[in-house]
Amino acid sequence: MDRQHRVMGAIVGSAVGDALGAPFEFGPPGAFSTRFPSPARGVDTEMCGGGTLGWAPGEFTDDTQMALLLGQSLVEHDGLDEADVFARFQRWAQADPPDIGIQTSAVLRSGHPWDTAAAEHVRAGHRAAGNGSLMRTTPAAVFFAPRGRAASTDAARRISALTHGDPAAGEGCAIFYEVLRVLLDGGDADDAVADALPLVAEPHRAKWAQVCDPAWTPADATEANGAVWPTLGSALWALRGSTTFEEALRLVVDLGGDTDTVACVTGALAGARAGITGIPIRWTSVVHGRVPGFPGRWELRDLQLLAVRLDGTRHARLHEPPPTRGLEPREVAPGVWASDLDGARRSDRDFAVVSLCRTGGRFGHDVQRFAYFTDDDSNSEIATVLDDVLDDVAALRAEGKPVLVHCHAGASRTGLVLRAWLVRSEGLSAREATQRVAAAWPHLSTWNGTFTAALQELARGTR
Ligand SMILES: [Mg+2]
Repeated sequence: MDRQHRVMGAIVGSAVGDALGAPFEFGPPGAFSTRFPSPARGVDTEMCGGGTLGWAPGEFTDDTQMALLLGQSLVEHDGLDEADVFARFQRWAQADPPDIGIQTSAVLRSGHPWDTAAAEHVRAGHRAAGNGSLMRTTPAAVFFAPRGRAASTDAARRISALTHGDPAAGEGCAIFYEVLRVLLDGGDADDAVADALPLVAEPHRAKWAQVCDPAWTPADATEANGAVWPTLGSALWALRGSTTFEEALRLVVDLGGDTDTVACVTGALAGARAGITGIPIRWTSVVHGRVPGFPGRWELRDLQLLAVRLDGTRHARLHEPPPTRGLEPREVAPGVWASDLDGARRSDRDFAVVSLCRTGGRFGHDVQRFAYFTDDDSNSEIATVLDDVLDDVAALRAEGKPVLVHCHAGASRTGLVLRAWLVRSEGLSAREATQRVAAAWPHLSTWNGTFTAALQELARGTR
């Protein structure tokens, strides 16, 4: 898998986890699976919003708000400027965010300078090993990963110490950085933990070894999951107990308690493992939010851009796609339509739109899903993306929703999904599906050999 898919998976995955867990914060165990016993792929998804703070569906919370401030500071300064990060956090805290940790709030609003505020808080006798420094730290773990273990774990401790004076929190962040660094390289989380534990400062090592042990489960926790130990312990437990992003997130949101933060931390690790293509599009497509005290609205494309910049392509810019012919939507299979980018942009708002290319933003339809599909032969995860897209199309169709599939020219990627839909829904062979689509949609292109191979594979599995 392309490293950039993993980097985007970590950044988008953490925000997705935050938004997915937010409505269930402080709730009882099992609330998520009770409400969503099976995947909700239709118009209404598990990104349900609500909760005690009244989040919008897909809206991220303070975890991601602080993470974005940290990430932007790293990119703009091309390195860690602790005073700058602290100043951004303070500006945010002063803008009254709807959600802010007790300890983070006390430190940022204390009036003490950046290099003593957190230590003063501990000196005054307050407990300080909350999960508030772990929850926001993913962008820095991504940024420092290519610089190796020593630089990475050093940064983890320094960034944690800005608000969390208890070294136990910093040691937890150091383990997290190391696990994420290894996952981004395609390695194994438990191997990373085993290598990281000897680096943990002595008075904290035994307790961290306990919660990171493969035998540990959330039932063994000695603190509520607002503390740093069970937060990271639960994330690692969920990784071991799952093979997909979706399974890992279901496990941790079902723990109840501090669900947004535990899911945010889990989402970073599971996202690095699965890559951006392994995160369900019904979740990535709606994740969004604002950072109080700062301008702008964040959505999927902005998170992806930040991820790419953190990974070293600092000059990367938002892609504004060139205009297309504006092909009118046409029904190619019952209830499933095709168009190109500008045709879809101008289409009836009743369509559920499935976008297979970069669009420059949302069109304004109530349902618009963005699949990560590059039209070249570097896309090693076509089957995963195709499964996710087809399952969503099936669920939307089952609810009677017309579905409009498009890519930039409406030719190759659009053609693949339409053909795959006919293979899946009508049991056609790859050849039959291609003939049917070509007859109804003359813009079909079959140039991409990896697409044809994926289609044939799907047809074999379906039969
Ligand atoms: Mg939160």
